[in-house]
Amino acid sequence: MLHRNKVYRQSNLLRLIDWKISLKLNNINQYDTLFEDHYLQLFRIKICCNELPTCVNLKKRKPDLYDEDWRCNFCKIEEETFNHFWKCSKIQNVVQDILKRLKIFLAKIIQKYSRDNIDTQELKGKINELGMWDIGCLYDFTFLMKNQVSCQLIELLKCYKITEEKLLYKVLKQITGRVLLEFKVLIWEPRNELQIKEEK
Ligand SMILES: [Zn+2]
Repeated sequence: MLHRNKVYRQSNLLRLIDWKISLKLNNINQYDTLFEDHYLQLFRIKICCNELPTCVNLKKRKPDLYDEDWRCNFCKIEEETFNHFWKCSKIQNVVQDILKRLKIFLAKIIQKYSRDNIDTQELKGKINELGMWDIGCLYDFTFLMKNQVSCQLIELLKCYKITEEKLLYKVLKQITGRVLLEFKVLIWEPRNELQIKEEK
């Protein structure tokens, strides 16, 4: 039964993502190094392949070197995985800030590139209604870091006439790059500092 639920969940998730656009976005990122710096690109790949050196991954890679009891650098309670960071109780203020700023960024970027005259309140309302703000639900905004864009977000951009291909990908790259950078600077790097202290 559990397995069936998982399969069901997975197939629902597949339907929430616009794969055609996501795959193309990934290809553009791969060949267009002008747009994204090399380090950020590698960082994205590590997240996509689940190769970020989190505690869980390090314990798996070097079980003789790392203590099995070693947990999340922030809360010291849960297993440290990429998904855990977003739910970690110790850094919920940071996560909520990232979320809040991403909403503002989305509004700004749509206003900047849309050819419509925009009702700002209506736009903010539509952004708030996106399903991706509920962290841990089937599809949340952290998927953007893997270049996986929801059909809902594409619909929103279309709604504001951001449809022309070049423009659409330019906007998407800025959105996905933004989340990636926020995670790197506000969660991953502070986490590494704690880690270094721990290892001393
Ligand atoms: Zn934690």
